[in-house]
Amino acid sequence: MTMRDGTRVVRAGLPQVEQGEPFLPGPTFAGPYHLTGDPSNSAYTYGRYHNPTWTRFEQALGELEGGSAVVFASGMAAAAAVLGVTLHTGDTLLMPSDGYYTIRMLAEGYFASRGIEMRMAPTAGNALGELLDGVRLLWLETPSNPGLDVCDLAELVAAAHQHGAIVAVDNTTATFLGQQPLALGADFSVSSDTKILTGHSDLVLGHVAIREPSWSEQLHAFRTQQGAIAGPMEVWLAHRSLATLDVRLERQCKNALEIAQFLVSQPVVRQVRYPGLPQDPAHAIASRQMKRYGPVVSFVLEGYEQAERFLGACSLILQASSFGGVHTTAERRARWGGDAIPEGFIRLSAGCEDTQDLLEDLAQALATISTM
Ligand code: PLP
Repeated sequence: MTMRDGTRVVRAGLPQVEQGEPFLPGPTFAGPYHLTGDPSNSAYTYGRYHNPTWTRFEQALGELEGGSAVVFASGMAAAAAVLGVTLHTGDTLLMPSDGYYTIRMLAEGYFASRGIEMRMAPTAGNALGELLDGVRLLWLETPSNPGLDVCDLAELVAAAHQHGAIVAVDNTTATFLGQQPLALGADFSVSSDTKILTGHSDLVLGHVAIREPSWSEQLHAFRTQQGAIAGPMEVWLAHRSLATLDVRLERQCKNALEIAQFLVSQPVVRQVRYPGLPQDPAHAIASRQMKRYGPVVSFVLEGYEQAERFLGACSLILQASSFGGVHTTAERRARWGGDAIPEGFIRLSAGCEDTQDLLEDLAQALATISTM
């Protein structure tokens, strides 16, 4: 039976139906497992190597991504593992200058100081495609965080492969329900599951999906040897939360679009970006490769003071970093540094609240700065 997204996320990774057993068995808390004789005769030997709670969640993610998956303790651990298994001294890494800044810091700091050559270009306009000569790994992030620019995955993946490069896509802002990097030819689909995928702001987690079994083996070995593994409780919560991803995203994307449309109509608001807005510069490519445009909207207020006043005046919209959860959040992103954005740049993540309540909260908070 061919199942649609809403059904697939509810059923992914669940064990066979068995009389008297739960739908999703609880987390397995184990350091060592009972083990006699030859360890290769047992599916589970030691908790840093494997855990049945990880196995079920990885099965679910593999089904949904169109490959197999390896779960990591955070999105950064997942990204670091991909860089770690693909790059060797003397290799060239090409990545977006406007992607998630901690990944750039890891590449420019740890990896560059160990003999990896770095190249960067912006996400917009497929600019990364111009720099592919001699590249070992092309890293993409679309829509980019926080600027929400989009690049053409199929085109860049094909160009990279022609140049002999492998391609990893950070799919955090879209999720596999928004776009499918592996189906578009990418070698790695990387995600911070801290965000949209789990959506309840109660854990930190990440995963990598791959089609090629040898990459899967290398990622497993990297995780086992590097040793910073995900806790079974977090992974179980993630699997439980996955079931509602489709319904959460449906409401979140609707809210994001209505918020973006509302913001466009406000005189104190500039540079509203949302790939789902027909007039957005990213819309043409996004509408070809994305099934949904995600919960993140960005916009610019006049400066630091207007942005802080606006955020302080929101009563429903919470000030917080990160994005993708059921609670609508916003922050003045420049407070972190690291991104080429104006002081008044706001990243807003639409949650699952009632649309009208969110629009009313935005309207009253914006009214406080129109008199400044
Ligand atoms: N990739 C993107 C696009 C992100 O926004 C983030 C976190 O904000 C990460 C990766 C890292 O994920 P984590 O915070 O789970 O380590």
